[in-house]
Amino acid sequence: MGYGDRNFRGGQGGQGGRGRFDGPREMHKATCADCGKECEVPFKPSGERPVYCRDCYQKHKPKKNRF
Ligand SMILES: [Zn+2]
Repeated sequence: MGYGDRNFRGGQGGQGGRGRFDGPREMHKATCADCGKECEVPFKPSGERPVYCRDCYQKHKPKKNRF
């Protein structure tokens, strides 16, 4: 017997209070682990995790699965 479990509703609205945040951000130079070009990241690269430039980050960031 198969009962589809489609009883959940995913998320509610897309209204977050997160807009743009002004303020100085410390940028750290890093080398993109994908294309190898220099980039700056708003966090300190630990060396354990690959750092991606903006373009590559778009490719590597997890996608949201929406039905
Ligand atoms: Zn890159």
